[in-house]
Amino acid sequence: MNKEDVWERVLETLRGVLPETVIKAWFDDTYVSFLDEGRIVIAAPTDFKRDALSKRYEGSIARALFHIFNRSYRVEIVTLVKSESGSQTTAQSEVYTFDSFVVGPTNQFAHAAALAVANNPGKSYNPLFIYGGSGLGKTHLLYAIRNHIKRTNPDLKICMINAEQFFSELVRAIETNNRAVFTEKYRKSDILLVDDIQFIAKKDFVQEEFFHTFNTLHESGRQIVLVSDRPPRDMRMLEERLRSRFEWGLVVDIQPPDLETRMAILRFKAQGLGLPMPDTVSQHIAETVTTNVRQLEGTVKKLFAYYDLMGYNVDVETATRAISDLMKEMPGLNPTPELILKSVCTFYGVEEKDVIGSSRRANIVQARQTSMFLMREIIGKSYHEIAEVLNRDHSTVIYSIDRINEQKKDNADFQNELKIITENIRAE
Ligand code: ADP
Ligand code: MG
Repeated sequence: MNKEDVWERVLETLRGVLPETVIKAWFDDTYVSFLDEGRIVIAAPTDFKRDALSKRYEGSIARALFHIFNRSYRVEIVTLVKSESGSQTTAQSEVYTFDSFVVGPTNQFAHAAALAVANNPGKSYNPLFIYGGSGLGKTHLLYAIRNHIKRTNPDLKICMINAEQFFSELVRAIETNNRAVFTEKYRKSDILLVDDIQFIAKKDFVQEEFFHTFNTLHESGRQIVLVSDRPPRDMRMLEERLRSRFEWGLVVDIQPPDLETRMAILRFKAQGLGLPMPDTVSQHIAETVTTNVRQLEGTVKKLFAYYDLMGYNVDVETATRAISDLMKEMPGLNPTPELILKSVCTFYGVEEKDVIGSSRRANIVQARQTSMFLMREIIGKSYHEIAEVLNRDHSTVIYSIDRINEQKKDNADFQNELKIITENIRAE
């Protein structure tokens, strides 16, 4: 294990016993600067943080190391500023492979298509479009494609990007007069992997740029993979010419895993951590945590912390405790009106301030009315409370909710939109 991986594991373990706010406050910009058998040097960005870490968390770090490696380490904390090279995200993304993806009836089609594309880039399905709810393994599959091609075709130039990044990079390129560099970077790639492509529909000039990138790559038989939370037909504000292109190749969906697959995922994740998991426990978790894989994973990590750091038995009682811990940490299970507003705005690609403000633009009105509807539907807020959050009067709220109810009638696409937004909120 390299230094990054070790630190990743330590933080992972500490997350099980310390609140996320503590991890964020004290460990966010720390890293391992030296490591050998028995000695670890951890770098903190300031003297203040170094002192606080030594005083409060040195013991926890040593204990975490002991549990991971089964041997004791001398922990030293020093002040050092992080160098550019130590990227930790790479370490994490390397574990997203086809081998670490558990296949079941609801994701096997997406898995098979991704594998086909990775084995034969540009020659099978182009583009491959994968969609599905939050936490179901879409990004995992995208990384799996990247890691597979990196290994089997090391000469191919792979560009993997999130559509929001594409958007902000493009804006920056235009502002700094570097548009040509931007254009070239993407149009010269052999493989283009785009995560969260739904965000491309935000601005016309981004769609325009992406349209040309798409055409350049597709015409010369280079592979494009797009990942989204919704199918092309449900991407509002998407130009027709892009929509049709997104459907040129193969469109596949991922649905939440069934009970059997959830149990298999739990066993697989537990095995990875060296956590024993009796069937009674995996069954209990799989029956309780049903929405997405990210939550299953979170439960296993919690359970591992109880087992590893506290020495608890892995039984149904400890599992119940782990699940309830996890639920407490997930704002989406008991969302505030603000969280609902934020998720709706993300979905429609609009700004919260415009939704609260007085704009009459169609997608802003849509976001505003949908927010009101969901605040009522999901958390049963009173008209009065909703009116307050959105800076409207009581009668506008009633009218808006009626409008959404109208819109829902006989409109499967819109019902699906509401479903996706709700799932996004739940997964927060
Ligand atoms: P999405 O991009 O769809 O929101 P991610 O790809 O980020 O979801 O997956 C969330 C977490 O769940 C990741 O840690 C991923 O490794 C894990 N995961 C999702 N599906 C599977 C699967 N079928 N097998 C193993 N792990 C999975
Ligand atoms: Mg994702």
